[in-house]
Amino acid sequence: MELEATRLGKGDAVSNISALMERNKAFASTGAWRNTPRLPFLPFKGLYIITCVDPRTDPADFLGLEFGDAIVARTLGGRVIDAVIRDLSYIGYLVETKAPEGPYFEAAVIHHTDCGSRLLEDPELRHGFAQRTGYDEQQLAALPATVPAETVRTDVAKILNSPQVSTRTTVSGHVYDTATGLLETVAEPARINS
Ligand SMILES: [Zn+2]
Repeated sequence: MELEATRLGKGDAVSNISALMERNKAFASTGAWRNTPRLPFLPFKGLYIITCVDPRTDPADFLGLEFGDAIVARTLGGRVIDAVIRDLSYIGYLVETKAPEGPYFEAAVIHHTDCGSRLLEDPELRHGFAQRTGYDEQQLAALPATVPAETVRTDVAKILNSPQVSTRTTVSGHVYDTATGLLETVAEPARINS
């Protein structure tokens, strides 16, 4: 779909990232980026983490991830949408074809308490968002992580039941508590049936 000219950026917006460019230079000077995982898709800790876009739920913080430790996918609510299945399938396929002797990796789905996705439980807000965007209201209604222990189990099952995903993948589910900083496992690691 072609962007309408009126929606193209005009280059006069205030930058929030420019203030962080010095941090980038400091990162580059550490040389940490030289410690590259074997092939770009085999993270050091063997993890493919799916979590919420919420700035409080960055796994680099609550799991102490360092450079190259994990692949991280972040979606609203940490929900396993079709694009997550596609990407996970692609990485699994790369392992199968490019590193067949390589390690298995674990897809860890993490939902959290006090999730902003729950604002979509409000019918008025949900309706307004659907009107504004054209997204399907029924699908939006299924999105909120109302009871994260339940939605995370649903999403673990979605991966386990997706034939596109490599059978070399292990899947687990967890809930992060924004009130304590603690992560709890609610779905133990399971292998996809081959
Ligand atoms: Zn959230």
